[in-house]
Amino acid sequence: MDAHVLSRIETIQGNITTQEVDAIVNAANSSLLGGGGVDGAIHRAGGPAILAECRTLGGCTTGDAKITGGGNLPARYVIHAVGPIYRNGRHGEPELLASCYRRSLEIAAERGLKTIAFPAISCGVYGYPIPDAARIAVTAVAQFLEKRLEIERVRFVLFGAETYNAFSMALHELECGRQGKR
Ligand code: ADP
Repeated sequence: MDAHVLSRIETIQGNITTQEVDAIVNAANSSLLGGGGVDGAIHRAGGPAILAECRTLGGCTTGDAKITGGGNLPARYVIHAVGPIYRNGRHGEPELLASCYRRSLEIAAERGLKTIAFPAISCGVYGYPIPDAARIAVTAVAQFLEKRLEIERVRFVLFGAETYNAFSMALHELECGRQGKR
C-alpha cells in the first residue's frame, strides 16, 4: 500500500462524539432508531435532531449506510453504517463489514466531505473478533483512499485499549506490506 494512502489514515484512542471532522460514522442497527454503545453516545451528545432525521430514512440494510446532520455534535454530519452481527464468519460477515466502510466513504465523497472518523464497527455487542475486524476495516479504507483522492483524512477513533491496539497493528501491517514489496 502506497505511503500517500497510509499517511491519510490514523488511529487514536478516544471518544468519537467529540471529533472535529466533517462526518463521524455511527455503528447503527438496521432500524436506525437508536441503540446502546457508540450509537447511544452519539444520540446523547448530538441531541434529538439526529433521531428525528433517522426516523424519516426507513432503516438501512446491513453493509450499507445513510447520512444525517450532526445535530449538536462538532461534526457536521453523522453517517449511520450498519455492520454485520458476527456469527461464525461464514455468513458473509467479512464482505458486509468491508462494505459498510466503503459505503460510508462513498456517501462522504458524494457530499464533498474530506475528513471522516470511524468507530470499530461491529466490535461491541455485534461481537466481531477484533483483530479480524481491524484488518478488514483498515484494508477497506486504504483501498478506497487509493482510488478516491478527495477524502483527505480518515481517523479510527477507538474507545478502549484492545481495539486501539488491534487497529494500530493492522495499520502497521499494511505499512510493512508496502515496505516488503519494494
Ligand atoms: P456494534 O453493535 O456495531 O458492535 P457498539 O456500539 O456495540 O456497536 O460497539 C462498537 C465499538 O464502539 C466498540 O468497540 C465500542 O467500545 C465502541 N464505542 C462505544 N462508545 C464509543 C464512543 N463514544 N466513541 C468511540 N467508540 C465507542
